[in-house]
Amino acid sequence: MDFGFSPEQEKFRQEIHEFLENDADAKGAKEEWAAGNGYGPHTWVIMKKLGARGWLTPAWPKEYGGLGLPAMYRALAMEEMDYFTGRGSRGVLCGIGMTGTVLLGHGSEEQKREYLLRISRGEIDFALGYTEPEAGSDLANLSIKAEDKGDYFLVNGQKMFNTACHYAQYHWLGARTQVVEPKYKGISLFIVDLKTPGITIIPIQALGFKTNQIFYDNVKVPKNCLVGELNRGFYYIMEALDHERTYTTSRLNGELEKLIQYAKTSGKSKDPIIRQKLAQLSTEMEIAKLFALRIPWMLDRGMRPTPEAAILKVFYAELQQRVINTAQQILSPYGQLKKDSKWAQLDGEFELEYTASLEGIITRGTCEVMRNIIALRKLGLPAR
Ligand SMILES: Cc1cc2nc3c(=O)[nH]c(=O)nc-3n(C[C@H](O)[C@H](O)[C@H](O)COP(=O)(O)OP(=O)(O)OC[C@H]3O[C@@H](n4cnc5c(N)ncnc54)[C@H](O)[C@@H]3O)c2cc1C
Repeated sequence: MDFGFSPEQEKFRQEIHEFLENDADAKGAKEEWAAGNGYGPHTWVIMKKLGARGWLTPAWPKEYGGLGLPAMYRALAMEEMDYFTGRGSRGVLCGIGMTGTVLLGHGSEEQKREYLLRISRGEIDFALGYTEPEAGSDLANLSIKAEDKGDYFLVNGQKMFNTACHYAQYHWLGARTQVVEPKYKGISLFIVDLKTPGITIIPIQALGFKTNQIFYDNVKVPKNCLVGELNRGFYYIMEALDHERTYTTSRLNGELEKLIQYAKTSGKSKDPIIRQKLAQLSTEMEIAKLFALRIPWMLDRGMRPTPEAAILKVFYAELQQRVINTAQQILSPYGQLKKDSKWAQLDGEFELEYTASLEGIITRGTCEVMRNIIALRKLGLPAR
């Protein structure tokens, strides 16, 4: 078994590393995301710079703006982006991770030409439009309605926690097109221009993030905005979610390294309990890195990593909590202070990471739901 990267992969990673390390917009993007607002001017600029080099979508075919490389290259690019732009790398998760994945597999040629090139160049992004007040984990229960009116679909209803709606150009909308049992067989996917008349976006604040409620009031969605087949949306959503759960570990690893360095320079590393805790976290981080790289490794072999993505999500999200909680113990109450306090430690990063770690166990499927997937798909335990 070979755990190393090829010289080409190392070169690819190094090029992105050096570029991001020296780019002012990467630093600006990190600050924009740390403020919880999502894309700002720096993020748009850095996305375009990365897109121009093909680094946003290295695994896509060349004709749609990719480099035609294996999925492992996407993982390497994401690792570097995650490290330098912090939460900023999350921006690519819907457009590239969800929309791109589904359009490549099931979109019409017209849709591919219309959207994929612009996503790959970093010119546009999508807001993930799944959750509703009564449909979060139980996505099959979603009720926003898209009625076939002949020339168009008429959409009415509400979405909740659709984070990117205030900066993305398009909504990646899951809507009910048929009332049927089982419920998941009546869901379709649509691409909706967020400027369409009848759409209202209301910002809300959750776990340090600006996110949104979005209301559809008699919104006319053209027929060619239906993605793939009618009533097959749930299958596409599930397929793409395996991709969206491909976590990178570089940012969290970087945080842990900062914490270890702090323990050394502050003299706290002499405390035997702190030494034990840091050694344990470092061990778990090595496991997370292997879990994370297993996903692109499987994708490159044509395998679908459903339980593996769920295992990674649970392990990573809960490790993130353990790292942050340990950091709070080591930093003492100073760790709770924001960056702008003169008493803040390590630039207030662990205060910020604390809220991010709460968000991590909820979004992209909660850890409980991931355990259900593991029980069903890996252990073969019967569904409830
Ligand atoms: C900051 C933030 C950003 C988000 N961004 C987006 C976004 O951009 N787009 C989008 O569509 N959604 C987004 N979400 C929504 C997120 O995906 C949902 O919050 C999540 O799926 C959980 O749904 P829920 O909030 O309805 O909770 P519920 O589904 O009601 O769950 C409540 C609790 O019950 C548990 N539970 C539920 N079902 C089961 C079960 N079958 N077995 C065991 N336990 C269960 C859950 O684990 C959880 O602990 C965001 C959420 C947050 C907090």
